[in-house]
Amino acid sequence: MHQDTWTPLMGPRLAPDEHLTFTTAGDSQSAFVAWFARGLRVALERQGHTFLAPDTPPVEGEPESPPARLVLNLCDIDRPRPIHRRGQGTFVVTIVEGEDNRRDVMKAAYPLIVRSLANMVIYNTRVNGVLESHFVTIEQGHYTIRLDSDEETFFDHIYRRIQPLACSHLVINNQFTPDLPDYLWEGDEATRQISWAGKQLDGMGLLPAAIPIQEYLSERELRHVKRLYGIGGLSYGNLSARALHDPRYFWMSASGVDKGRLHTIGRDILLVTGYEPQNLQINLSVPPHVEPRRVSVDAIEHYMIYREHPQVQAIIHIHAWWRDPIVSTEVNYPCGTYELASEVAELVRQAPDPSRAVIGLKNHGLTITGHSIAEIFQRIDGMIVPQVPMS
Ligand SMILES: [Zn+2]
Repeated sequence: MHQDTWTPLMGPRLAPDEHLTFTTAGDSQSAFVAWFARGLRVALERQGHTFLAPDTPPVEGEPESPPARLVLNLCDIDRPRPIHRRGQGTFVVTIVEGEDNRRDVMKAAYPLIVRSLANMVIYNTRVNGVLESHFVTIEQGHYTIRLDSDEETFFDHIYRRIQPLACSHLVINNQFTPDLPDYLWEGDEATRQISWAGKQLDGMGLLPAAIPIQEYLSERELRHVKRLYGIGGLSYGNLSARALHDPRYFWMSASGVDKGRLHTIGRDILLVTGYEPQNLQINLSVPPHVEPRRVSVDAIEHYMIYREHPQVQAIIHIHAWWRDPIVSTEVNYPCGTYELASEVAELVRQAPDPSRAVIGLKNHGLTITGHSIAEIFQRIDGMIVPQVPMS
């Protein structure tokens, strides 16, 4: 293990003007949504976030201002509109006023995530006259805040729920270099283990979503979700194994592919060779003849764990939970963020044996480290429960 050649791990560097900024978009006609947006803006500003005036067309000859990190997309329920995302690092929260006394909120709110291309929807309904704000995210389930206190406290609670979105950084840039040695173009024992594990998880019924999203979305919307978010149906979860030919590297499943059928190197399974904190970028080595796919968004998390713990040889992430009590992250940062990865890496570090750790990701799933893929499968046998607890 040549630890000294690894990229030093450090937090993302932020330009001061892109730090904690937010703006509003959308064309809602609802007085309620306007009230909600005002209250949330005050709460965001109280916490040090800076409001940017909604998008104005760039002036010729002048540099374009950096995009806001968080956009509050104010929509009417019957015509949710996507915003034009200027930056990959922008998170979108769609806010709508729903019907009164709506009970099956997921069914009403989930399609709005897709139709407005949001990371989160806040669906508001009055139940027996009491406002309930329901938070729905693409993979992390659903939770509720009631207006049963003063407005300031209420919006502080709302703020706390969107804080992970407003403050986190996606590490989803991929740099592909077509320099994979030809003896690895067909993979090796490590990639065959990954293919085998994907089939096993599929057979165990652990790859479909913890949330039955097919009940909430039409066939067309489901296809859209798969394309856009790289998840849905068969493509949840991810797997990786340390490379045999170079312990600084690891193989990992691609984003948005069927994990039950991982075959082609560079397309279904990729070799991760590094991380560049300056650009929040994952480096990958691919065969020259393959049109590469993006690596799983959780590559940064696996990178941190492999780098720190030479005994870890494999990592599996599934959207399911553990039968016995386990440690879990406190904040549900979005997948693929530096912050989620850091939190999980910290819990692995604290585990009695970091090379055989089972870590819960709040409202989301499990990350399991092991000495090999086969060893992880021996340990998880009989221990997995499909339903992730939500709080
Ligand atoms: Zn996940």
